[in-house]
Amino acid sequence: MRLSRFYLPLLKETPSEAQIVSHQLMLRAGMARQESAGIYAWLPLGFRVLKKIEQIVREEQDRAGAVEMLMPTIQSADLWRESGRYDAYGKEMLRIKDRAEREMLYGPTNEEMITEIFRAGVRSYKDLPKMLYHIQWKFRDEVRPRFGVMRGREFLMKDTYSFDADAAGARRSYNKMFVAYLRTFARMGLVSIPMRADTGPIGGDLSHEFIVLAETGESTVFCDRRLLDLAVPGPDTDFDQDLQPLIDRYTSYYAATEEKHDAKEFEAKVGAADRIAARGIEVGHIFYFGEKYSKPMKAMIAGPDGKERPAEMGSYGVGVSRLVGAVIEAHHDEAGCKWPLPVAPFHVGLINLKQGDGATDSACAKAYEALTQAGVEVLYDDTDKRPGEKFAVMDLVGLPHQLVIGPRGLAAGKAETKRRADGHREELPVEEAIAAVKKSVRDGLALR
Ligand code: ATP
Ligand code: MG
Repeated sequence: MRLSRFYLPLLKETPSEAQIVSHQLMLRAGMARQESAGIYAWLPLGFRVLKKIEQIVREEQDRAGAVEMLMPTIQSADLWRESGRYDAYGKEMLRIKDRAEREMLYGPTNEEMITEIFRAGVRSYKDLPKMLYHIQWKFRDEVRPRFGVMRGREFLMKDTYSFDADAAGARRSYNKMFVAYLRTFARMGLVSIPMRADTGPIGGDLSHEFIVLAETGESTVFCDRRLLDLAVPGPDTDFDQDLQPLIDRYTSYYAATEEKHDAKEFEAKVGAADRIAARGIEVGHIFYFGEKYSKPMKAMIAGPDGKERPAEMGSYGVGVSRLVGAVIEAHHDEAGCKWPLPVAPFHVGLINLKQGDGATDSACAKAYEALTQAGVEVLYDDTDKRPGEKFAVMDLVGLPHQLVIGPRGLAAGKAETKRRADGHREELPVEEAIAAVKKSVRDGLALR
């Protein structure tokens, strides 16, 4: 993509309404724009990151055996009356009337709808287990939308729903999502910690919030430092094997959100040096709730004995749009974003130091062609701005690799590469510089 054609409305000043660094950088780097309180337009740069995050979420859901579909954003109030949540949900629900005065709503979540879809198509334990998901916009009229896309009113969520014939099956589904979540966040360059979370009136121990530690996080959390070093299950993980030992390894360490925190247990289980009391960002939440919706909504399953009972269900959410902010919180410096390659809006920023200089233009055009042909995503700064300004823009945008070509280097046959993560620079013969960038991108995208 040529920068001269792209739409990258940068801001010179940090907008005063942005309190945390991810929000500031998203506005400054022209990634998103607030259209109403907590409602954002995704500008081209931010949209590319959002799509990359969404794709990683999708790939790991598919790997775990979940099946993608798409449910609408607008739902009928009657559906929510079946579960009793239409009145219970309160002001966070955006309620709408259509022209026939029918009560509708913009979905804050989809348990009711998926239960209705499921009960229309599944009758027998032989059809189970099933895990269905979609990636769709949600609306919650939050009291305090803030921190940009971190707490929006309209936000993109991946929500999966599992259906099993019995509690043991439901736990297997839960475990699959647990492992899928660890992999999902790790692929974005995030260390996520599954923490015991509130289950509400249903009880049980099957609810975990996946938390990324960050000073700007809204959750107060407590955990064992050793959790940060646990190896994340690899891409060869067999989701049909018994995942319980893997889950047990994680849950044997203390980790709890404020609501579930037990100070006595924390001190007994975790040595003083390993105790972390910190703030974190909730990027995902998995939850087993059994018959909560299937019972009132009569999503019945016939067992081997022919007897019918409500399906055992769970739901599993990922904050896809929130993750864009979370990744920035984890990867930035004073100059701007430092995108991990798998979620970077482009892989490489190509900087032409002297637009209009024949040799430089043609070397840049060649490099652009060679990289693009190899599947590398390049943002080519072909504008006539000064070099200093181009460097600042590229650092702000934060692409993992920079390739800098100018008349002085070219006179010696050279170009410069710069790695955004650690600032490492190298002057190399032009062909070698292109090959080095290509290789770094390839290696960086290899599945882990
Ligand atoms: P929170 O405690 O942050 O309000 P929640 O517990 O209400 O979130 P869930 O219903 O568990 O959220 O939704 C699943 C995921 O959706 C959350 O883990 C979070 O990552 C994301 N999410 C929830 N609310 C918002 C929001 N207002 N803006 C952006 N993402 C959100
Ligand atoms: Mg939650």
